[in-house]
Amino acid sequence: MKKEIKYLLFKDLIKGLSITLKNFFKTPVTVQYPKEKVKLYPSFRGRHALVRDPLTGDAKCVACLKCQQVCPSRCIDINYTTDLETGARKLISYKIEALRCIYCGYCEEVCPVGAIVLTEWFEYSSRNKEALIFDKEALLKNWDEFIHSYPEKVYTNKYWNLKGIPESNKSALKREGIYVKIKD
Ligand code: SF4
Ligand code: SF4
Repeated sequence: MKKEIKYLLFKDLIKGLSITLKNFFKTPVTVQYPKEKVKLYPSFRGRHALVRDPLTGDAKCVACLKCQQVCPSRCIDINYTTDLETGARKLISYKIEALRCIYCGYCEEVCPVGAIVLTEWFEYSSRNKEALIFDKEALLKNWDEFIHSYPEKVYTNKYWNLKGIPESNKSALKREGIYVKIKD
C-alpha cells in the first residue's frame, strides 16, 4: 500500500515538473502594460460613442428610443422633437451614465441604424463622476477620438448585425449590413 502511495506521488511530481519544463521555453504571455499595448478582440465593448454621420456631421441617431427601452441599467436618457408635418423625430439630447452601464451591448445590438456603439477604447477613467456621464457632444467626441486612430477605411460592429437573428426581424439597413466610412 505504501509503495502504491509513493508511486502515485512520484507520478504526480514528474507530471508537474514536465509541465514546468514545457512552459519554461515558451514565450511569456504577460504584457507589460501600459508600455506594451494589449491586443483587443474586435468588437470589444468599451467606451460609448454616438456614431457621427459622415454626410451630415451630426449623430446618426433617429431617436427611435429602442436603446433606451432595452437598456437593463436604465442609464440612457433621450430627448427629441417631432416634426408635426412629416412625423420625423429629431434628436435633442442623448445621455449615458457610464458608471451605471453594465456593457451588455444591448443598445448597439438593438439600434436599427448603427448609431450607438461601445468602442474598443478602454483607457478612460475619472475621479469625477460627472466626467463619466456622456452627453450627446461627449459621445460624438468619443466617436471622433475612436476613429482618429482607427486603422481601417470602414467601420462596422458585429453587434449591429448579429448572426442567428432571422432576416425578417432586422431593419432594412441591418439586412444590407451597416458600415461607416472612415476615410477614402
Ligand atoms: S451597454 Fe447595456 S447597460 Fe450599457 S448603455 Fe448599453 S444597454 Fe445600457
Ligand atoms: S436605438 Fe439607435 S437610433 Fe434609436 S435612439 Fe438609440 S441610438 Fe438612436
